[in-house]
Amino acid sequence: MKSKNDKIVPMGPYRHSFRHSLPVILVGLLWLIPQIGAALPSHQPVPGGVAIVPLGDGAERPEAWYGKRRVMVVRGDGEWLAVAGIPLSAKPGRHRIRVRGAAGAEHTRLFTVRAKQYATQHITLENKRMVTPNARDLERIGRDRRAINAALAEWSRPQNVELDFDAPVTGRFSSSFGLRRFFNDKPRKPHSGMDIAAAKGTPVQAPAQGRVVATGDYFFNGNTVFLDHGRGLITMYCHLESIAVKTGEAVERGQPLGTVGMTGRVTGPHLHWSVSLNRAMVDPALFLPPSLAQGEERTASGSR
Ligand code: ZN
Repeated sequence: MKSKNDKIVPMGPYRHSFRHSLPVILVGLLWLIPQIGAALPSHQPVPGGVAIVPLGDGAERPEAWYGKRRVMVVRGDGEWLAVAGIPLSAKPGRHRIRVRGAAGAEHTRLFTVRAKQYATQHITLENKRMVTPNARDLERIGRDRRAINAALAEWSRPQNVELDFDAPVTGRFSSSFGLRRFFNDKPRKPHSGMDIAAAKGTPVQAPAQGRVVATGDYFFNGNTVFLDHGRGLITMYCHLESIAVKTGEAVERGQPLGTVGMTGRVTGPHLHWSVSLNRAMVDPALFLPPSLAQGEERTASGSR
């Protein structure tokens, strides 16, 4: 697993002699070893989970689609793997990944989505507009949705996609992914992220390297930052008090993105953290080290 200490390996052109470079190259090769069996999210083929689907071997990375969405393909041990986000709305049963090899030949790979029953949560909000928005609010919510969808549709191809995340904030996991929600007893969309409760002003940090695809201020999500980690993996940080990054900026693991706040639809200060994979909102816990991911009431420490 990577840690901040791994980043001392220099990157970029080396202008000094090969003799001096050799130790650097050897250290670099050692650093590459864990990359071969890249740290993958947990294989959880359930609605709101992630499926790791073997695609076979080959010299070139194949392209793959799940439904209409292009999916991430990474190198596993001796084979290519699709890393597919499964929408919360997915039906249990057989699902297919469409694969196109470098030569253009297509085939499909099947995987099975198991049922998962998420718990129910009732929330009471004083601000009735946050439960039943008025006509002007609905207009704004429509604009917000288009901007959010555009950010989540980003597709980039960085050299290395980091799939092992650090918790973006130190705090208590206060509400888990997938909860079936009722606001003031009215059914609303299921919880599409993880909530981490922390005091206003607590720094929110990038869980891995990425690039800022968008920032905005939205009706429900409040001040928000979107990070693109590559190949359809986008993370979203909501209800921020302040935003410390700009669209287009490259960010390193651990870099501050902003601070915890209570902008948008909230009952108290917390970070709402969403992970979108091939446009499906999936459980962020699948990308955290198991010691952090188990149990909602554990404290997330900012580092692993
Ligand atoms: Zn939330």
